[in-house]
Amino acid sequence: MNIKQKEAKYYMKVFKRCDLIVKKAKGQFVWDDKGKKYLDFFTGISVCNLGHLNDAVVKAAKKQLDSYAHVSNLYYAPVQVEAAEALSKKLDKATGKTFLANSGAEANECAIKIARKFGHTTGGRYEIIAFNNSFHGRTVMTLAATGQEKCHEFLHPLPEKFVFAEFNNIKSVKKLINKKTVAVIVEPVQGEGGVFTADKKFLKELRSLCDQKNLLLIFDEVQSGMGRTGKFFAFEHYGVKPDVVTLAKSIANGLPLGAAIACGKAAEVFTYGDHGSTFGGNPVCCAAALAVLKQMTPALLKKSLQTSKYLREKLGVLKEKYPLIKEIRGTGLLVGIDLSAPGGDIVNYCLKKGLIINCTHDTVLRLLPPLTITKKDVDSAIKILEDAFKWAALKK
Ligand SMILES: *Cc1c(COP(=O)(O)O)cnc(C)c1O
Repeated sequence: MNIKQKEAKYYMKVFKRCDLIVKKAKGQFVWDDKGKKYLDFFTGISVCNLGHLNDAVVKAAKKQLDSYAHVSNLYYAPVQVEAAEALSKKLDKATGKTFLANSGAEANECAIKIARKFGHTTGGRYEIIAFNNSFHGRTVMTLAATGQEKCHEFLHPLPEKFVFAEFNNIKSVKKLINKKTVAVIVEPVQGEGGVFTADKKFLKELRSLCDQKNLLLIFDEVQSGMGRTGKFFAFEHYGVKPDVVTLAKSIANGLPLGAAIACGKAAEVFTYGDHGSTFGGNPVCCAAALAVLKQMTPALLKKSLQTSKYLREKLGVLKEKYPLIKEIRGTGLLVGIDLSAPGGDIVNYCLKKGLIINCTHDTVLRLLPPLTITKKDVDSAIKILEDAFKWAALKK
């Protein structure tokens, strides 16, 4: 049996994998089993934002492995506490507090549990407002918070009291608020849902609405955080701050780690026993995260914004030439190319030509290159993308 046949036989049928058997990866490049080199404009869904096998991250993780891999959260692992300090201070220097989990879904579970406990201790509230087209994870609770019907199929009955408003429509949020409402959860840039950026006015109004009604505002920055949009948190583009923010994907540049970071009253909701995780905040992952955070400098973020501008200019030129492209969306290096037809063929074409990209929501090509890419990498990617659009136009 070859590896694809084995996968089909032994791995549960959940991932429709692309035709790429990965041999190794370094920086912005991936090599397959035949030695072919690919430019990676997807970084494993924005997980390796500093590029594959970032030297300092690898070194820090290996160093931690020389001491221990795991000790249990019943004891102190200094590197975990250091990571929590660094993350907490990113949200709020004075009151920030962090819980470390293993994934984005788990980080959001934690945020939702904070909201539920906050509600039950402030007048018996429990209803949480989420948004259409959102994505918050694959656990049952986070799926209940996810505003995409297709994710709910076969799972009913789901955990209750999640209601859905329309993204960028504050009136639709106001309509849903009642005495039982306790929190709002939103991605500042919707990722899986098709790459939609929140309007500035919308997030500001959401913040003041939450303040008025004593609701917790939760930002899911699992995809938009960690410098992806050119700021450490996407919300920094807006001048608003959430009560709880969640991170995962790129926190440890390829090792599994998630974080729920709270501030103010939200940081003091939990007490001993309210939450936990055996693996959460694994020391090796935390050592990697510290090395990542050290590299998230203003200079790197600024450079990524310049690269994003350059990439978007080039994409704008393609848009004028190829009617298949309807719209270029997103912020920073979280880029969505909305097409007038399904994008799966384009993804496969690019892969054959040595460029890794993704398609989400059927028609939206999604680019999530490492923040460290150069203009030369952008030129290479644009060339392949243009070939793909040409090919698609001829095919029609
Ligand atoms: C990927 C993602 C999640 C889920 O993260 P996992 O690590 O897969 O559990 C949650 N929210 C957003 C916005 C995401 O992009």
